[in-house]
Amino acid sequence: MVKVMTKTKIGVYENVKQQFAKASDLMELDSDVREILSKTTNEIIINFPVKMDDGHIEIFTGYRVQHNNALGPYKGGLRFHPMVNLDEVRALATWMTWKGALTSIPFGGAKGGIQMDPSKYSQSELERITRRFTFALGNNIGPEYDIPAPDVNTNPQIMAWILDTYLSTIPPHERQRCIHVVTGKPVESGGSIGRNKATGQGVVFTIEQWAQDHHFDLSNVTYIIQGFGNVGSWAARLLGRHGSKLIAVEDITGIIMNTDGIDPEELDAYVKENGGVKGYPKSEPIDKDTFFGLEADIFIPAALENQITAETAPLLNVKLVAEGANGPTNTDGDIILKKKGIDLIPDILCNSGGVIVSYFEWLQNKRSEKWELEKVDSKLYKKIIAAYGKVQNVTEKYSTDWRTAAYIVALSSLEKVYKERGIFP
Ligand code: NAD
Repeated sequence: MVKVMTKTKIGVYENVKQQFAKASDLMELDSDVREILSKTTNEIIINFPVKMDDGHIEIFTGYRVQHNNALGPYKGGLRFHPMVNLDEVRALATWMTWKGALTSIPFGGAKGGIQMDPSKYSQSELERITRRFTFALGNNIGPEYDIPAPDVNTNPQIMAWILDTYLSTIPPHERQRCIHVVTGKPVESGGSIGRNKATGQGVVFTIEQWAQDHHFDLSNVTYIIQGFGNVGSWAARLLGRHGSKLIAVEDITGIIMNTDGIDPEELDAYVKENGGVKGYPKSEPIDKDTFFGLEADIFIPAALENQITAETAPLLNVKLVAEGANGPTNTDGDIILKKKGIDLIPDILCNSGGVIVSYFEWLQNKRSEKWELEKVDSKLYKKIIAAYGKVQNVTEKYSTDWRTAAYIVALSSLEKVYKERGIFP
């Protein structure tokens, strides 16, 4: 059996550069625009002290990279993870620019994070870490300038602390018109209904469209998922509602399989109670080789970058990879998927439901509105399926793969804006 090696976080930004170069060459992107988009605009690194529960001080390193704001305010998540580093944040920020441009929402791209393992800290320590980082970021974020959101290991509660801290730093009479400084907030604190499931919902909308195009009956398909957090668990649960059969799940705690089917709702309840999929009773543990080699129709990577690589892609035995995670497939992985005839819904399309509904949250806050779930879902559906259609057309026009086509749609829009506006002075 081939030994699977998981090389997380190695040269993620290099992946972005390679993807960008391939699309730019093919579409003959204007060389000046290419130069501009090949660099990030601002890179903020902050070392900040936080008092721990026992009174000692720990120093943390936080990042915020702002890639581009030609189409609107910088926008992107905040990740709390031990492997957060500048290379990774640059890559994630750049993908956000492409995502906004691809889905026609008026946002640029940013991303940030704190290098730490949140499981090692108490709730009150996490709150102080979050608040201190927000305070240190100061005016580098703002409701019309740069708007954070949840990502790996961050959630609505953390967004609520960011909101509260940011508002505390501005004059009282300006506070109520600034709650769109962060999205993915709890609904009671100004969040949008439907934001929590939005990324998983978008993943499933794109899978539904793919299934329709390929005359696939979703009530009769099997799927495997890597990552059972926000994106993975919602994608699993929403796909499960079609009657599709979940047969294996990997997360940080372990990998489980049941070829008779795993109930995603039950697994979700188990994970919330136990912190991970490991030990889920109606399943057996398997190793990584077995997981990647399982015969299934759909694989949804929804964890971290660089998971489908030269080592793991040859093992895959699926018809479709739907990228819930950002950057789960590296360039080698892409080449192998293509050779094996495995279809791909690329990350900047597949997982764009999160930023699309973040945009809806931002709009609701600006207008003091509260939309119903039906409105959020139907507007999300329209936006993501419109982007899907554009990408599909470009794959045909340029006879290219879906990732490159998604880039071409995004880059064409950015190129147009730069040509119209020109460069000051
Ligand atoms: P999360 O923290 O809610 O969940 C992450 C999941 O990945 C967990 O189940 C965790 O156990 C698992 N995981 C972590 N390290 C792993 C490893 N080494 N091997 C296997 N599993 C591992 O995070 P999330 O918000 O669901 O984000 C997951 C991915 O989706 C990330 O790539 C993120 O950038 C992307 N994404 C998230 C959103 C969003 O709205 N949250 C939007 C777009 C894209």
